Amino acid sequence: MYNYHDHSGVIHVHSTYSDGAKSVPYLINAANRAGCDYLILTDHDTMAAYKMEGQYKNTLFLVGEEITVKQEKGHYLGLNLKKTIPPVYGPQETIEQVNQQGGIGFMAHPDVRKGKLAPVTWADWTVEGFTGIEIWNYHHDWLENIKLKDLFSGLLKPDTFIEGPIPQTVQKWDELLTRKKVVGIGSVDAHDYFMSYQKMFKTIRNHILVPESLTYHPAGFLKNKKLIYQALQKGNCYLSYHYLANAGGFMFSAQNHHQEVIMGEELSLHKGVVVAVSSPRPCQLRIVKNQQCIARKNNTRSLIKKIEQPGAYRAEAYLRLNNYHERPWVFTNPIYITAN
Ligand SMILES: [Zn+2]
Ligand SMILES: [Zn+2]
Repeated sequence: MYNYHDHSGVIHVHSTYSDGAKSVPYLINAANRAGCDYLILTDHDTMAAYKMEGQYKNTLFLVGEEITVKQEKGHYLGLNLKKTIPPVYGPQETIEQVNQQGGIGFMAHPDVRKGKLAPVTWADWTVEGFTGIEIWNYHHDWLENIKLKDLFSGLLKPDTFIEGPIPQTVQKWDELLTRKKVVGIGSVDAHDYFMSYQKMFKTIRNHILVPESLTYHPAGFLKNKKLIYQALQKGNCYLSYHYLANAGGFMFSAQNHHQEVIMGEELSLHKGVVVAVSSPRPCQLRIVKNQQCIARKNNTRSLIKKIEQPGAYRAEAYLRLNNYHERPWVFTNPIYITAN
């Protein structure tokens, strides 16, 4: 049925080239140990590590940049760039600088939880031309939920202070999806402050779905790089909270009488479309369109829904482990159902 290979890795990581605690070789080693198929470094306002890009054992190491928008009006992850973009541009100009290099870009930590200290959020939502947004930023999730009195347990059991995507961000994503394609990613934003890189690399993963398997040979580097960025650009990817369980094999697809497509792609409504979610383990599955949950099933590995209206449909999964409440586990990118 499908010929897609599922590989998972981490996006948004800082090294000593900016405010991260450890060097690039240390990070790569940590990613190897954590079993990441790829690692995308995004130091603040520098691509200094670009020359180190390559295949290191089973981990593909790629270098992007977390670009500071002028006057702290946002942080923008520029990926697949060739050279550093300085932090001197406004929001729209920053996006254009990335696009001019043939890159792709994501607004980093666009929102902050209500009532919490606001570090940097995305200020201008009239911008065009961006690839997507970070739906879930692990570093900020922890930071915003920790109180000084909990610091000790927060360091010992960081997961206790992890909540999930900020509802406001998911809402914004759905609003944007009514007008355009927007890719959602998850990020670790790892600095090695409250959790080691290796542990952090087992938290929020982005699974890419690629037509051919990544090769772990140095000669395959450029091909692998292209496959990863293409999947991220198109939204042939989903984010998962890997700490709860490995979501590898998760799928969200749709079919009409002619064709079958996966997340990130478009399909015509034609004479009717059926969307299907499947999970490698029992969980609560949901299908969401424009902030509405249109189908939900508990303790299941699959969910199927007939679609009669055009729009962007996406899937979510929630996992209940060890008598804990149901927790956010998987967010897929949408399938865009068009009128004809
Ligand atoms: Zn940032
Ligand atoms: Zn960052």
